[in-house]
Amino acid sequence: MSQDVIKIEGLSYSYERQKVLKDINLLVKKGDFLGLVGPNGSGKSTLLKCILGIQHPDEGKIELFGTDIRKMKNWDKIGYVSQKANSFNSGFPASVFEVVSLGLVSKIGLFNGFKKSDKQKVVESLKSVGMYEFANRNIGELSGGQQQRVFIARALVSNPELLILDEPTVGVDAENVESFYQLLSDLNAKLGITLLLVSHDIGIITDKVSHVACLNKRLHFHGSRDKFKDATEKDL
Ligand code: ADP
Repeated sequence: MSQDVIKIEGLSYSYERQKVLKDINLLVKKGDFLGLVGPNGSGKSTLLKCILGIQHPDEGKIELFGTDIRKMKNWDKIGYVSQKANSFNSGFPASVFEVVSLGLVSKIGLFNGFKKSDKQKVVESLKSVGMYEFANRNIGELSGGQQQRVFIARALVSNPELLILDEPTVGVDAENVESFYQLLSDLNAKLGITLLLVSHDIGIITDKVSHVACLNKRLHFHGSRDKFKDATEKDL
């Protein structure tokens, strides 16, 4: 039986008096590539913050890898890549290698020195996103799409089993979006990393993901991509 990576039951969340998430139930299995889609204001970021333990639901519960998140200790099983549109300007004084190395800081501590195996991990991560040849370049000199690949490499250095991406193609040039999604598919298929991708663009992601969840305060659909396509065709 495949492992449950994210299990959410009966989750509700309110900001002051406004209920923004209502009775959410969601199951993500190991190896799934889930696209979480919904319009602006539908609660996507709030749900992510609940999954990452930053906000606490009013009702319901969340388990990650079978553990209640209130008892979760090994958060390095989870990588997170946020919207990073134009986050570094050209003067930012850090190399690509250094930025990716930061992904290991929580594991090895800031002052404990970098072992050869840590360096190797950074190299492997950069290779897995096709950015190794840029290792010595300044991060600020790269395009939005290249920077986003570097941020994925930074999330990968600690060997996460689940990678959460919040609108990762914001700031990626249109002609590079396709290869960016190909990279995500490869990470999913070749490394077996479970992916949760948040997007407001239903059109582009339904071809890329294995499962779709449609959020608008409630989950209006959750199932395989094929079921999603059948359901939307019937609606049309
Ligand atoms: P999405 O990520 O889908 O755009 P959000 O989770 O950011 O949606 O927002 C869901 C709803 O919660 C929106 O109506 C938004 O205005 C509201 N909201 C988000 N953050 C806050 C906050 N810190 N305080 C009050 N309301 C908020």
